[in-house]
Amino acid sequence: MSLHALETFIKELGENSYRAKQIYAGLYKDRFTNFDEFSTLPKTFRELLKEKAEILSIKLDKHLISKDGTQKMTFAVEEGKVIETVWIPTGDEERKTICISSQVGCTLSCAFCATGLLDFKGNLKVWQIVDQILQVEKIVGDRCTNIVFMGMGEPMHNYDSVIQSAHIFHDPQTWNLGAKRITISTAGVVTGIERFIKNKEPFNFAISLNHPNPVTRKTIMGIDEKYPLEVLLKSARDFTKTLGRRITFEYIMIPGVNMGKENALKLVKILRSVNCKINLIPLNTELHGWRKPNEDEIDTFRELLKSSKVPILNRRSPGKDINGACGMLAAVSY
Ligand code: SF4
Repeated sequence: MSLHALETFIKELGENSYRAKQIYAGLYKDRFTNFDEFSTLPKTFRELLKEKAEILSIKLDKHLISKDGTQKMTFAVEEGKVIETVWIPTGDEERKTICISSQVGCTLSCAFCATGLLDFKGNLKVWQIVDQILQVEKIVGDRCTNIVFMGMGEPMHNYDSVIQSAHIFHDPQTWNLGAKRITISTAGVVTGIERFIKNKEPFNFAISLNHPNPVTRKTIMGIDEKYPLEVLLKSARDFTKTLGRRITFEYIMIPGVNMGKENALKLVKILRSVNCKINLIPLNTELHGWRKPNEDEIDTFRELLKSSKVPILNRRSPGKDINGACGMLAAVSY
């Protein structure tokens, strides 16, 4: 619950709303997992809480540790509903990112993504999103510095729960993570981007672009049938104009599909037309007979993009050995 929702609930129980603040701090700062631990609350009130409420948690199913330090946890959120969450420390230990899921499976089927092959089993509730962070931090014994909504699911298809949980992570009374440390992504759900702009959400925003050609993008991004590239780029321009900040494009590099000179030149045109930066990510899955790009191919593609003058980042793909890298979640069947 957000503090506001908790205050409403506490008032309904006939208690003073300052009790909500105590419970909120107990849950997110002290990380209590049952009402008996809330020693600042009177015993009678704790008993009432036990009757009227529950502190729920997702259950750890599998925990894998990569040789590069990445850790992947599989959680059962409900009977038969499994999600994955990834802890990604960077080499300098300064940045510790948790990649969280927003849905069980995904209704989209981006061609490079293993999650898209799973049956869709529903949206995660706010507590199931927030508890991924609580559980992962407990397991690794550390706190994250960044959160990315880039795990299983399309965040814009679970908009309300995603935004509510992002605000909980941003709240100074909980994780106090700066809005720039929380990144929400989409494969291109334009209605979600429009809502994000209208509500002037402060969080970082990323679009999975993955192809610069308006005719062929749909062959790897099914969402392009509904929201074609031109419409998506218009909403990206609206984003940067209205919110006055840069948007991030994610680009999975697939040799023979979206790399090479012709695609690079088309991509440069797009990059020049939007206030953006681009993250280049080598393909991790080898679905459809595709292969990963080699270093030469990545360097050549990157060089071709330099004339766009936008920041180009080469994203590492940690956790490949535990199927924890980008596009690999749920690559292992349960
Ligand atoms: S990349 Fe994201 S939106 Fe696309 S299928 Fe995978 S989880 Fe769904």
